Amino acid sequence: MNSFDRKLKEYGYYPLKAREMTALIVIMGHKCNMRCTHCYVDASPDSTEEMPLSTLEKLLDILSRHRAITTVDVSGGAPELHPHFRYFVKSAADMGREVLLPSNLTLYDEPGMEDLPEFLAENRVTIIASLPHYTEEVTDRQRGKGTYKKVIAALKRLNSLGYGREGTSLELNIAFNPAGTGILSDGASLDRAYRDNLKEMHGITFNRLFTLNNMPIGRMRKSMSDEEFDRYMKELEARFNPDTVDTLMCRTSVSYGFDGRKAYDCDFWRVLDMPIKDSGAGIDDFDYEALSSREIVTHPLCFMCTAGAGCTCTDLLVND
Ligand code: SF4
Ligand code: SF4
Repeated sequence: MNSFDRKLKEYGYYPLKAREMTALIVIMGHKCNMRCTHCYVDASPDSTEEMPLSTLEKLLDILSRHRAITTVDVSGGAPELHPHFRYFVKSAADMGREVLLPSNLTLYDEPGMEDLPEFLAENRVTIIASLPHYTEEVTDRQRGKGTYKKVIAALKRLNSLGYGREGTSLELNIAFNPAGTGILSDGASLDRAYRDNLKEMHGITFNRLFTLNNMPIGRMRKSMSDEEFDRYMKELEARFNPDTVDTLMCRTSVSYGFDGRKAYDCDFWRVLDMPIKDSGAGIDDFDYEALSSREIVTHPLCFMCTAGAGCTCTDLLVND
């Protein structure tokens, strides 16, 4: 039994089991216009890894057969760069599914992306915009010079379309992740600070602030020394918050590799190639009942999801 399972046992949550599946996590590819140091999938402009159309079609087929899956989290990399992004999003939206799009919001000036905000609004896509801080200095330090101005311009444009405004159902959320190995414990005061500062400085409004810790795998792990990693893991474990266990995203969702041959409890396990316990369960063997009662593969890295305020994005994953 690993240390995470021991902790779950102490609080009566062992073994960690899935419940009725309500979401599909669709990682469209690892291509991204950015190259952030904390990125756990090693996304970059040079990446050619992406989900082929054949796998996307199979996921759409699953959606068409399982009404209980109400949400599709389209993620990456920057999923907007996938050649079939609009086809997939529109197809899922036309089936009445809520599409969630974690986005770095720095793409709207890129060729072919100029009308993307209108497309997202037409398909009622829920946006989770990455903004590491409400100040330019901190955001640009974490994400690179010029990032803040692009994100603010994108948020204003989304607001002008009705996103994040009262009286519309176009949802605009903001995702905060601390720099490096910081762990957030008080989401409420941060929410207030984001709300007040964005409104005051730029007239920007949004629906909810999501908080995330950083998963120490991929580029994030490579940027850490072994000592830093050990210290971070100890800190994550020490900050275990049992209130986060009920809403862990792995309990109500599943993720597939690009070729659809393996299912994963979450995208972190996809990156580490730790498939679900029935490792033969690829996309062609999709079994809603079995997946909705599976035992979840755990690892000490799970403490990332349960530390402090945890990951407040229930049913979704944000790599931004
Ligand atoms: S790391 Fe994955 S399996 Fe572990 S708690 Fe987080 S979402 Fe669940
Ligand atoms: S963290 Fe997000 S924006 Fe940054 S490189 Fe990774 S996928 Fe791109």
